[in-house]
Amino acid sequence: MRGVVMHTAGDVRVEEREDPKIIEPTDAIVKLTATCICGSDLWPYRGIEPADHQVMGHEYVGVVEEVGSAVKNVKVGDFVVGSFVISDNACEICQAGFQSKCVHAEFVAQTIGTQAEKARIPHADGTLVATPGHPDPELIPALLAASDVLGTGWYAAVAAEAGPGKTVAVVGDGAVGLMAVLAAKQLGAERIIAMSRHPERQKLARYYGATDIVEERGEEGIAKIKELTNGLGAHSVIEAVGTQESFMQAVGATRGGGHLGYVGVNTTCPSRASSCSSPVSTPWAGRPRCAGSCPT
Ligand SMILES: [Zn+2]
Ligand SMILES: [Zn+2]
Repeated sequence: MRGVVMHTAGDVRVEEREDPKIIEPTDAIVKLTATCICGSDLWPYRGIEPADHQVMGHEYVGVVEEVGSAVKNVKVGDFVVGSFVISDNACEICQAGFQSKCVHAEFVAQTIGTQAEKARIPHADGTLVATPGHPDPELIPALLAASDVLGTGWYAAVAAEAGPGKTVAVVGDGAVGLMAVLAAKQLGAERIIAMSRHPERQKLARYYGATDIVEERGEEGIAKIKELTNGLGAHSVIEAVGTQESFMQAVGATRGGGHLGYVGVNTTCPSRASSCSSPVSTPWAGRPRCAGSCPT
């Protein structure tokens, strides 16, 4: 089959890759109908993270072509939306609602790579969700958004405790930020402030439920959020960018006792400690993450 491989930063090729096969009884093989590029693919592309012949893609929808003997929830011929994190949806962590931290969690990016014709999806029962029947072609891009950005935005809104009576501020107007606006609305938030400078995205934010738009950034953006919230800041703030600046903007926009949902893929230490001696690697492209014992 053909699949996308990033040889090194800026060098992306479509190549012949081996066809995936069932390995574990809990696997499924999915023939991919649609896949896309994520903002997080840009870090290795730009050379901010290492890239060495890695398979690309983690957002996907498709049709189940084959299932292992233990798979019960999806069957051959089903149209499925897959998550960008593998989960069994059965362990204690999954049952508590945190499937992305499943004891069997594995990122689809770099290990499976769904910018390809087919993919082997482990723990198919927990990771894949079948749609009722086959969707019309014009619905497929919307279903693809449920593979990552909707779940990520929803997670951020829940982590920020968005809900009835709450004022929610969303930092970032990309796909995740916009889906966080939608999630906050669905969770019953009273007021939703989208921080955005792009007219097209502002329009979408309003469509998904934003009641206010703030164009200012940094200290000015924080001041504007305070102005809109009687000087207190928002109850719930969602950070969906991942830079040092956006993170500090989110912290500043949160009221005392409020909650911050942080899902922007960061490439810098939040405390920007150049002397940090305790980075740890994660399966997510080996990006260093703070181990929590930062001296600053
Ligand atoms: Zn993604
Ligand atoms: Zn689990």
